[in-house]
Amino acid sequence: MRMIEAQLHSPRPRFRTATRVAIVGAGFSGTMLALNLLEQADVEVLLIERDRHRMGAGVAYSSSESAHLLNVRAGNMSAFPDRPDHFCDWLSARGLGCDAAFVTRATYGRYLRETLAGAMERYGRRLKLVDDEVLDIEERGGQVTLGLVNGGLIEADRAVLAIGNLPPHDPPAIAGAHLPSHRYIGDPWASSFEEGLAKDAPVLVIGTGLTAVDVILRLVTHGHEGPITALSRRGLRPHRHVDGLPRPKPVLAKPAPELSELVRWAQTEARGQDWRLVVDSIRPITQMMWASADAAKRARFLRHLRPFWDVHRHRLAPEVADRIDALVASGQLNFHAGKIAKVTVEPDALAVSWFPRGGDAAVVTRAVRMINCTGPQGDLLRSTDPLVKRMLGAKRIRPDALRLGLDIDRDGHVIDARGLPSEHILAIGPMTRGDLWEVVAVPDIRIQVSALARRLVNAHWTGGEGL
Ligand SMILES: Cc1cc2nc3c(=O)[nH]c(=O)nc-3n(C[C@H](O)[C@H](O)[C@H](O)COP(=O)(O)OP(=O)(O)OC[C@H]3O[C@@H](n4cnc5c(N)ncnc54)[C@H](O)[C@@H]3O)c2cc1C
Repeated sequence: MRMIEAQLHSPRPRFRTATRVAIVGAGFSGTMLALNLLEQADVEVLLIERDRHRMGAGVAYSSSESAHLLNVRAGNMSAFPDRPDHFCDWLSARGLGCDAAFVTRATYGRYLRETLAGAMERYGRRLKLVDDEVLDIEERGGQVTLGLVNGGLIEADRAVLAIGNLPPHDPPAIAGAHLPSHRYIGDPWASSFEEGLAKDAPVLVIGTGLTAVDVILRLVTHGHEGPITALSRRGLRPHRHVDGLPRPKPVLAKPAPELSELVRWAQTEARGQDWRLVVDSIRPITQMMWASADAAKRARFLRHLRPFWDVHRHRLAPEVADRIDALVASGQLNFHAGKIAKVTVEPDALAVSWFPRGGDAAVVTRAVRMINCTGPQGDLLRSTDPLVKRMLGAKRIRPDALRLGLDIDRDGHVIDARGLPSEHILAIGPMTRGDLWEVVAVPDIRIQVSALARRLVNAHWTGGEGL
């Protein structure tokens, strides 16, 4: 009762029109929020990025590897929800094909950077790119003050966290093992993990999902010829896209109330058609299904279904899947299901002892390099990120109930340690998946950022599309 009262009387943030917005992070989410804001109103936007190589493209699209392809067809990768052909038009203006093509992530990064550069020309001083790291955000007197690494301060009337995923955590058997840094790579996005590696050296990749596929392709593209072992609890690999399927028929109402019934429904539906069409058919209602599930059901989904959902939902471009299959067929790459028990440092390698799934006899794999590909994490409490640590310590943010990212209200305001939504600090992108779940890929983030831009500048009250 007291909690309900507190909620009723807590100041619910109103969307007073923003005139100066500071965005932390210039990946897809931050960059596209900036562009949407500038298009919709006469606001001033400061886009702050700590890694200048990522400005405009973020982690995913600053890869320069030709082997790294988008895992969504180009036709569905427009950066703007109201201009579905924007990316295809950009490609065709450069003589590149679109339709069902899976282009490189580097090409997509170029598209984003050029779109940002176009906005710089069009909006002039209203868009300012700041090459710095935000260390803290304070709310004072109806404003926010952002503290930067270089000691500078930025004032704005809103700050939006677009910080992307948090780096991966070390798997339990490895955490605190103090492994030499040339043997164990904890974050493949933050290092040149192939450097100094002998071409024939055995490599152990922990994880078998999209990050593992990225890392494996980068290794072999750089000439690695040694054996690669990829190990995860279930050993599940992402499935492939197939060409030539019809468009999925969108399902508009929740097909089943319980998770087990939902699985049965999907299995039955998949008898008469390709399973990909069934998975894609519920995409329009995935966020709604997540929103209507209580905490216990969400937790059950994460515990039992998530690994299966991930490999069916986030699929590989056929070309990428072919390369992985060829590596497996050649014997260079092996996927295994199992659990690491212990890692021992030997003079020339790491000896990794692991139990195959369902077995009780340990297997030892020796690896000259071990790369953590367990994927991005969202648990704020385990993060060493300076901004996240500072804001958690000051009780200005808190993790969502399932530790998937930041706790936010339905309008995107971060929620503080007392459970109160901030008036001036908001969040977008993958760190909001506790609220929306399906907010990781471009087709979902572009809708989220466009809607938030409208709310921030009140365009939905003054003639913009309704939410
Ligand atoms: C490898 C990979 C491949 C993907 N491929 C696809 C795909 O093919 N199709 C698809 O639809 N989706 C794909 N996704 C998913 C999706 O597109 C990305 O998750 C999306 O780009 C996320 O963008 P973001 O801006 O939220 O995060 P990020 O790209 O991570 O950007 C966040 C930025 O914030 C900066 N930052 C963080 N903290 C601070 C700070 N304190 N101060 C200043 N700057 C800060 C970081 O340096 C970073 O550049 C992929 C994701 C990954 C990781």
